[in-house]
Amino acid sequence: MPKQKYAKNGEAAAAYECSKRTCKWQGTTDQKAEKYNGYGITEHVCPKCGNNSFYGLLNPVT
Ligand SMILES: [Zn+2]
Repeated sequence: MPKQKYAKNGEAAAAYECSKRTCKWQGTTDQKAEKYNGYGITEHVCPKCGNNSFYGLLNPVT
């Protein structure tokens, strides 16, 4: 059986992968860039492409 790579809903993610297939940046929450959206909320975005959605990875990025 192939090893599960992505965290499912409710599972703790050790790291994140940018959901943009052309980007695939991987890193931890600390390594994400922060972007102020203008409504009192700062969101985490990919430092490489600026995308704001990520997949959770079960294993830390080495
Ligand atoms: Zn990205």
